[in-house]
Amino acid sequence: MTRLGRPSENQLVTDCRVTFRLPLDWSVSMQKHIHIISRDKAKNLGMTAYFTGIPCKRGHIAERSTSNASCRGCRKLEYVKNTDKEKLRSKQWREKNKDRVIKVEKAYRTDNPNRSRLSKSVWYLKNKESQREKKIIWMKKNPDKVRAQNSKRRALFRNAEGHHTDLDIKKKLSLQNNFCNYCKKDLDVTGYHVDHIIPLSKGGTNWPINLQCLCPPCNQKKGNKLPSEWEELINKGVINV
Ligand SMILES: [Zn+2]
Ligand SMILES: [Zn+2]
Repeated sequence: MTRLGRPSENQLVTDCRVTFRLPLDWSVSMQKHIHIISRDKAKNLGMTAYFTGIPCKRGHIAERSTSNASCRGCRKLEYVKNTDKEKLRSKQWREKNKDRVIKVEKAYRTDNPNRSRLSKSVWYLKNKESQREKKIIWMKKNPDKVRAQNSKRRALFRNAEGHHTDLDIKKKLSLQNNFCNYCKKDLDVTGYHVDHIIPLSKGGTNWPINLQCLCPPCNQKKGNKLPSEWEELINKGVINV
């Protein structure tokens, strides 16, 4: 479908969101996080990109490179068009500049612990099936390591502070009216897992206050994420419950 005339600002925002697979609240979070700054100012501050909020000639409301004022939206479109060529080019560049890549990535992880944890989770969810298959093969090949991991997990459970009884779990279930705390499915139907709200591996306890009953899929998705990490993934639409 071709659109005649100049698209509305809302349409532009939607187009950019769809093209670049951004979350629904993208334009809001963009306004919150990206500050309007002129190219000269950005240059003086040593920034590699600047943002004016003015659409480029193709209509992207996107950052631009300080060095040549090129629109990063256009650049991304070019990339999408020539994906294979670009991927090869970037792979070759990364191989040539291995040390630099490692250093930059490490610095990024240190500066943005939450974002890098988030992108790791996103990556995992996208590659869940293949990772699971790989893990099964790895487990078959390394029974000793699997045993060691299991005993470590049991020790974690044993050594964590606090304890609870079957009655505590029954009380939890009735407090939750027998619904999964996240997706609200009927636990009588789905069965339930007892989840440590703050994972044991992150310092949580075995006291009843740190427990909740979840349906098995929700429990698996939560894994050993902190409640804040879990909420972030839901808010960004990475995980659906
Ligand atoms: Zn553009
Ligand atoms: Zn659930």
